[in-house]
Amino acid sequence: MTVAVILAAKGNDVTTTQPHRTLQEIAAILAERGIGAVIVTGGDGEVLGILSERDIVRAIGRNGVGVMQDAVSKHMTTKVVTASMEDAIDHVMEQMTAGRFRHLPVVHNGRLSGVVSIGDVVKHRLELIESEHRALREYIATA
Ligand code: AMP
Repeated sequence: MTVAVILAAKGNDVTTTQPHRTLQEIAAILAERGIGAVIVTGGDGEVLGILSERDIVRAIGRNGVGVMQDAVSKHMTTKVVTASMEDAIDHVMEQMTAGRFRHLPVVHNGRLSGVVSIGDVVKHRLELIESEHRALREYIATA
């Protein structure tokens, strides 16, 4: 199973922002949309970084609530790990575990084409287990 299967179910919507926006603005977007991270893009749509709720909490913890007026560029992660449509979901899980992050932007043909979160991966796993159980129950019932 690949990343493409998850995106086929959840769609290609990505919440992006620009580096000059403030943490306050991003916190409002995260709260309003019920998401945990935004992808920071440049003028040509290129990925410049990622800013998650954890970055905001970390910045507040270190420097106080005044950081909410800081620019996103000051607190985002710039070395972003991305996935491709062909990546296996197991591989994505390994990357999230090893890198200790919960979001993976998906790049397809050089363009940002979606985001896979740990929640998407867990949901997909549960559906897979459920369908295997169902198949086993049917097999036993008809044997
Ligand atoms: P998260 O678990 O996604 O809330 O992010 C935890 C930390 O990892 C934050 O500092 C994020 O900026 C960073 N991060 C999240 N996703 C990625 C990614 N795909 N590549 C690199 N860093 C990431």
